[in-house]
Amino acid sequence: MNPEAAPPAPPAPLDADIVCTGFGPAVAGFLLTLTRGLQQPEMAAVESRAIAGLPPQVVCYERADDISFGVSGVVTRARAIRASLPDLDPSAIPLAARVREEKLLYLLDPLGATRRPAWMRLADQVCRALSGVLGVEHEALALPWIPPFLHKGDGFIFSLGQFNQWVGQQVMMSGLAQVWPAAPVAAPLIEDERVAGVRLAADGSEVRAALTVVGDGPVGAVGRQLDEHFGMPAGHRRDEWAVGMKMVIDLPESCALEEGTVWHTIGYPEPEIFGFLYVHPGRIASAGIFVPSWMDSPVRTSYRYLQHFIQHPCLWRHLEGGRLRSWGAKSLLESGRRGEPCLAGDGYARIGECSGSTNVLTGSGVDEAWLTGTLLAESVLELLRKGEPFTRQNLERTYVARRRASWLEHESRVAEKARNGFQWGLLPGFLGMALAGLTGGRIAWPRRSGERRPKRLADYYAGRLSRAEIERAKARAEAEARPLHDLLMDLCGWPPVQYDGQLLVSHQDALLMGGKVQAPAEFPDHVIFRSPQLCRDCEAHLCVEICSGEAIRVSQEYPAGPPAFDREKCVHCGACLWNCPVSNIEFCAAPGGLHSAEN
Ligand SMILES: Cc1cc2nc3c(=O)[nH]c(=O)nc-3n(C[C@H](O)[C@H](O)[C@H](O)COP(=O)(O)OP(=O)(O)OC[C@H]3O[C@@H](n4cnc5c(N)ncnc54)[C@H](O)[C@@H]3O)c2cc1C
Ligand code: SF4
Ligand code: SF4
Repeated sequence: MNPEAAPPAPPAPLDADIVCTGFGPAVAGFLLTLTRGLQQPEMAAVESRAIAGLPPQVVCYERADDISFGVSGVVTRARAIRASLPDLDPSAIPLAARVREEKLLYLLDPLGATRRPAWMRLADQVCRALSGVLGVEHEALALPWIPPFLHKGDGFIFSLGQFNQWVGQQVMMSGLAQVWPAAPVAAPLIEDERVAGVRLAADGSEVRAALTVVGDGPVGAVGRQLDEHFGMPAGHRRDEWAVGMKMVIDLPESCALEEGTVWHTIGYPEPEIFGFLYVHPGRIASAGIFVPSWMDSPVRTSYRYLQHFIQHPCLWRHLEGGRLRSWGAKSLLESGRRGEPCLAGDGYARIGECSGSTNVLTGSGVDEAWLTGTLLAESVLELLRKGEPFTRQNLERTYVARRRASWLEHESRVAEKARNGFQWGLLPGFLGMALAGLTGGRIAWPRRSGERRPKRLADYYAGRLSRAEIERAKARAEAEARPLHDLLMDLCGWPPVQYDGQLLVSHQDALLMGGKVQAPAEFPDHVIFRSPQLCRDCEAHLCVEICSGEAIRVSQEYPAGPPAFDREKCVHCGACLWNCPVSNIEFCAAPGGLHSAEN
């Protein structure tokens, strides 16, 4: 490089009217409603303020390599989606089906390896003793009744990736919005306490806009920076999370499960882990689990648990002989209404999961996210038509007021305290959910003052493993630079997973099946360990244990120091961010990650 050469000029700012971050169901609902509205006769006179003579310039930047990145179940009642798309024909969307059969299954522990409380062990014994009367089959009890709040019986099964892609095509065909994948947004532009647009991670260029729509999901960098700058409303916090991990599976010929089958499961592979199985058209199924932040276990591996989940006799008799098509993982923000940030401010509005829309009682986030997007679009159309600016006051009068009057608000109030019980224990958790759901939120478990967090290793394994066994396992894990969970699970009686090369494959092979993980060379590491000292003092290395892609590993060079990060393996699930007990991880915006259009 010539030292006398002038430094490169900063990229020129781009002007738009509306800039969106992230293309999930929230922004998909926003853009579909907005672009349709802009085509109505009453909007014909509305012009762009950024480029005179043109219609409003709307641009959306998505971090992932494709707009079909979404990782989700999905089973949804799709009330808001159907309101937007009344003629929705599932056969038009790959992997979409109507829900035909729905079951809530209690899975017994077939191995004796889970850490069940006494009441659950008793429940297993009663189920086995009375299996004929209760109809227990293949170590599972189908509960005779699904609480109405959990029911998805009139809804759809989707692949979120395929659904996003389908909506995205319609948005882009309108010619009224541009959606750019592989374009992470590094930060909001905050000027004089208003948001004036965004800064892109690739080259630092600014995109200035009258309105910034933030829909970057549970762990998005833009939403988190807004929270840091503007603060959360009084009493609101983001302290409950889960990581959802799923497989998309080609079902074997022998499988008798029908398209439209929906199973929700509780009880296995650990009592805290909920699971699901949904059957798509074409003999394809989605199966997955949710590992919550309130789970006590300090060795919280989603991948191995998922492998044991699909091998539960009740599922395995349908899945054995199947083939893994793809695999994915992503965080869920489970603080619900308590995690709701400031929904709007001067020049910006928040939608979707980053706005606290996910319903923690019904386990539903896609339709809620979509609804928030449509409500914002209606408000934006109203303000554009009247020529009114996107001020905090105007956005609160239109968007926030619409949101407060919607079913989302009513249901989020019902759900607000539904999960409090899990902070006390499993039984209070289940009872609390039932009470809140059946009484419309009027009766709920009180919230505990301290958060339920993973225990220390010795406390968690007390009575099962001795301190000496734990220390030996730790020494071996460090020496072999591998996560601790495999060794401790083996010691607790979990059988090793017998890889079949088809469905039961190593974690590393799963990263490559049905998709690819990419990390473009020109970007710096997006997972940063702030203080190496904190990592050295850390007992359980939760970031290593939870890492969905084995991207964070105990470093071979410094086994007792900060872990190593391999961004070529990171699937951007965001779980490391909220699992570090001392908030020692910085999780920045970056492109790449897992690319599979089916998750
Ligand atoms: C395994 C699993 C199963 C689930 N099952 C169900 C289910 O059955 N039913 C249901 O209703 N919900 C389910 N959910 C929840 C549901 O997926 C979410 O609530 C929903 O996707 C939220 O939508 P969103 O648009 O707000 O955010 P997201 O879907 O998270 O979309 C946000 C987008 O923003 C992008 N982004 C993030 N940061 C940036 C940045 N800096 N710059 C640019 N782009 C960025 C992301 O890549 C992403 O595409 C499940 C979730 C998981 C993980
Ligand atoms: S990032 Fe957090 S969890 Fe990971 S090793 Fe460091 S302190 Fe421990
Ligand atoms: S490093 Fe990547 S894959 Fe691992 S937990 Fe963090 S975001 Fe997920």
